[in-house]
Amino acid sequence: MAELALRNLVKYYGSVHAVRDVSLTVQSGELLCILGPSGCGKSTTLRMIGGFETVDGGDITIDGRSITGLAPNKRPTAMVFQKYTLWPHMRIWENVAFGLKLRRLPHATIAQKVGDALEMVGLPETAKRYPNQLSGGEQQRIALARALVLEPKVLLLDEPLSNLDARLRVRMREEIKRIQRRTGITSVFVTHDQEEALSIADRIAVMSKGVLEQLDTPSRIYAQPRSLFVADFIGTMNVLDGTYRHATQSLEVAGARLSVPGMSWPDGQALRVAIRPEDLQPVEHDSSIGFFGRVDVVMDLGHFRQVELLLESNKSLKVFVPKERHITSGELLRVTPTRCLAYAGNDEPVEIIFTREPARSL
Ligand code: ADP
Repeated sequence: MAELALRNLVKYYGSVHAVRDVSLTVQSGELLCILGPSGCGKSTTLRMIGGFETVDGGDITIDGRSITGLAPNKRPTAMVFQKYTLWPHMRIWENVAFGLKLRRLPHATIAQKVGDALEMVGLPETAKRYPNQLSGGEQQRIALARALVLEPKVLLLDEPLSNLDARLRVRMREEIKRIQRRTGITSVFVTHDQEEALSIADRIAVMSKGVLEQLDTPSRIYAQPRSLFVADFIGTMNVLDGTYRHATQSLEVAGARLSVPGMSWPDGQALRVAIRPEDLQPVEHDSSIGFFGRVDVVMDLGHFRQVELLLESNKSLKVFVPKERHITSGELLRVTPTRCLAYAGNDEPVEIIFTREPARSL
């Protein structure tokens, strides 16, 4: 068991400021996902932890001891890369044993550990085969065995599933989660796939442009995004411009008035209002309520439909409508929010729950 900490980590590539003052702690036994769009600095951060990139500022510690100056093979870390980097001319057994042989362990110990590692990833029967005799998913499991056999304190995974097809990716992430739980190994998993991160992570570190935007549990990342970037990046979100009106204690947003009593914003404060599609509910038989528009696109998403509602203000809203409600393109629809987040500048968002008063149409 080991705790990994990054303190004010900085990385430049020439004039590109790839990682900006990132600090975070990965608890012992935790699986942390670093999530963000392409180019946000995820891999650079991971590679610095593994020792494959130099560090321009800050410190990396494992159990309180700095590893920042150590070569990759001197660190108690092991990395699984995006492309299964098995050696094609070696049998699977040799591939997994390689790192242990470098450590000059007795043969019997190596045999035992390699056997255990292959069992762990569920592929003991592949020992005598060559990598090209295995499927992509199997090769990636062997790459995982090769990392685990070294008994690292921290396991690093750099988009390990991105070369696999969609179904296999889902199976493999469950597999990785199971193995991580069983071994209790502190792990950092880099991905740009939010569904992957939301499904396997104990906590998610969302990055944007080299900055750590939020570090939180998957459910809090989804429900309480601290910045507009996170709100917009995770899941589906409607983001609308709004204005606070002190006299009526309300927000004017896209043709609707949302009652927000007791707020301390100045009159005329500009805000960005974020509403999840599932927090918008159709309103029947009341023409004074809510956002009003024409149903544009209807998409069937299994247990609900996603409706694109074109408002009079020319803005559009994504709304999740239960399957039972019949809905067709072209019909007029009113919806009212049950919950939203309001962002004023760079302030922390205010969560507003509309229990008593529904939104009024303007
Ligand atoms: P991510 O993993 O989130 O896609 P990276 O960490 O690979 O992002 O890259 C972060 C930024 O640093 C990007 O702007 C990328 O172009 C730049 N970058 C990454 N590696 C290098 C490199 N070896 N040389 C120059 N720029 C790089």
